[in-house]
Amino acid sequence: MLPDGTPETLPTTVYNHSALSGAPLRILLLSDIHANLEALDACLAAAPSFDLVVNLGDIVGYGASPNEVTTRSRELGRIFVRGNHDKAATGLMPLDDFNPMASTAALWTRSHLTGENLDWLKSLPHGPVTTPDIPGAQLVHGSPIDEDEYLLSLGEALAPLLTIDLPLTFFGHTHMQGGFFANGGAVDGFRPEYRTVGQAETVELKLKPEARYLINPGSVGQPRDGDWRAAFALFDNEARVVHFHRTPYNLKSAQDRIFSAKLPSRLATRLATGQ
Ligand code: ZN
Repeated sequence: MLPDGTPETLPTTVYNHSALSGAPLRILLLSDIHANLEALDACLAAAPSFDLVVNLGDIVGYGASPNEVTTRSRELGRIFVRGNHDKAATGLMPLDDFNPMASTAALWTRSHLTGENLDWLKSLPHGPVTTPDIPGAQLVHGSPIDEDEYLLSLGEALAPLLTIDLPLTFFGHTHMQGGFFANGGAVDGFRPEYRTVGQAETVELKLKPEARYLINPGSVGQPRDGDWRAAFALFDNEARVVHFHRTPYNLKSAQDRIFSAKLPSRLATRLATGQ
């Protein structure tokens, strides 16, 4: 935040070199894993084949497996954006804006991360991030305008939708799968509609070439859209289709780890309802 109260817009972080030898066609989008190893494992098991992983931040915080999830995320690579919980857990931002549950989890995470994982999390780039591997797209944790801003409503999404030149923005932070689009004079939000509450399912969104999109793959490790299943998305860059996924995971094991770690119990119970 600048002294006059306007949010500080950070310059874009540019990955200059392609991570791959050829253009990646299928990009796995993961966000808000929040140290939930069981949910991450389930997403990786459910994901169709992919060429590249994009991680939109909040790798840690809330869940009880920060080292396992950080190590797995590092191995998966290669494109990252930092989240506010990654900053909080590594001391890059004060905990003033965090509620007691979130700050307790951030301090617990800080005291349990290995030095190597802590340093790595600290080094994650801020958004927006661009990469030659996904032309025409940018990657952010919160908003393209402010990395910590929530894009929950259409009103909040309007400014980035109407001012950003790039046709595609992938974001996280809200833990709500879906997003927003602008097409000519039409602007609206959308959410994938699933048929079950407990099965692995996929919903496709075919991107229109003339439209602009803000797309959230959902939260792997702490969904808040009323669906307890772990969320992720796969972007087919050639077909221009986003495949939203939900997959059940070993909820009880993730909860038991949180109870055993003596983290606030609500962090475990909320996982059952996706709230
Ligand atoms: Zn988050």
